[in-house]
Amino acid sequence: ASTWANVPQGPPVCLPIVPIANRSVSCKAILGITEAFKADSFKEKINLGVGAYRDDQGKPYVLPSVRTAEDKVVSQQLNKEYAGITGVPEFTKAAAVLAYGKGSSALDRLVITQSISGTGALRIGGAFIQRFYPGAKKIYIPNPSWANHAAVFKDSGLEVEKYRYYNKDTIGLDFEGMVADIKGAPKGSVFLLHACAHNPTGVDPTVEQWKEISQAVKAGGHYAFFDMAYQGFASGNTDQDAFPVRHFVEQGHNPCLAQSFAKNMGLYGERVGAFSIVCENADEKKRVDSQIKILVRPLYSNPPVHGARIASEILHSPALNEQWLGEVKGMADRIITMRALLKKELESLGSKHDWSHITSQIGMFAYTGLTPEQMEKLAKEHSVYATKDGRISVAGITTGNVKRLAAAIHAVKP
Ligand code: PMP
Repeated sequence: ASTWANVPQGPPVCLPIVPIANRSVSCKAILGITEAFKADSFKEKINLGVGAYRDDQGKPYVLPSVRTAEDKVVSQQLNKEYAGITGVPEFTKAAAVLAYGKGSSALDRLVITQSISGTGALRIGGAFIQRFYPGAKKIYIPNPSWANHAAVFKDSGLEVEKYRYYNKDTIGLDFEGMVADIKGAPKGSVFLLHACAHNPTGVDPTVEQWKEISQAVKAGGHYAFFDMAYQGFASGNTDQDAFPVRHFVEQGHNPCLAQSFAKNMGLYGERVGAFSIVCENADEKKRVDSQIKILVRPLYSNPPVHGARIASEILHSPALNEQWLGEVKGMADRIITMRALLKKELESLGSKHDWSHITSQIGMFAYTGLTPEQMEKLAKEHSVYATKDGRISVAGITTGNVKRLAAAIHAVKP
């Protein structure tokens, strides 16, 4: 028999294309949507399943600042030698300042390593916790969360449990449930927190709520693991979006953080990210840093340099940095505008439902509150494709399709 004769057929993996919202939406269903969208010959079909930014023409978008930075990098004719285990130092230094803020007390005691985008950062963090966390090797993630969270942390050897997050009745945050679950968890538990633009719900805590969350995490003697995959992409302002991380540091937490530059720089396929741990002091930093290197080396030796050089160029050049911040704001603003437009169109059609959650939610995705049946009708009768849990990618909405989208939603939920 062949060596691999006993390898069982696995289910399709659809994560890189469309992150799924929760278990009730199977991968098969997602692939089904993609297939159905492709097969649909209707010219005005709308795909709201994509997990990447699109411009107002519905096209993928390369930021002009990224083009300029890339040209600069190429023209420097740098060599292709390996980076160190923790990547391009100029990049990680700037990434740390972007996240924690200039002058943050965390910067001097920070261990940071470049990573294979946000996913790789989460994976390193999971592995580090599995190896060294003094408490239970378990991580609490929100319900729902980005579907890959559970997979990444399980593969890191951690147990995964959920804390309450989304309230489907209010289409908003279950703040009381969230805080109760944080307070109720065994002392010293690890909590994964989406720093901003929660995926898939688009529902974020307010500043006041973050302050209470920080207190609850502290009261429980818990450890905070931030995932910041959308810094700047939510509000349009990188400082504002980093508030939770910075607030936790100010309050005396020593969190760890996964950063991604996929969304805010549009560097998806370049795989640019960073993982960092705020340490207590210089001595701890030295020890943690040594172990991060020992952990990364057998995983992939060292990260790719090209994307990190582009990001570094943008973060270090004052002119390019300013341009980039404007472009991030441009993306965030387009999404915020599409939210408002969709709500307005629904209202002008005479919809008697409350659609305020569409504009109160933030980031790439919106939880519409539509039922699986209504979502199916949207696809079958209106050629509007998105996941059955009612999540739509606002990035897929354009001034050209929003009217038709609103009419379709109004038709399935009159
Ligand atoms: N965390 C969250 C919440 C995400 O939504 C994503 C991707 N969309 C990631 C992490 C990681 O993405 P990437 O590996 O492309 O940086």
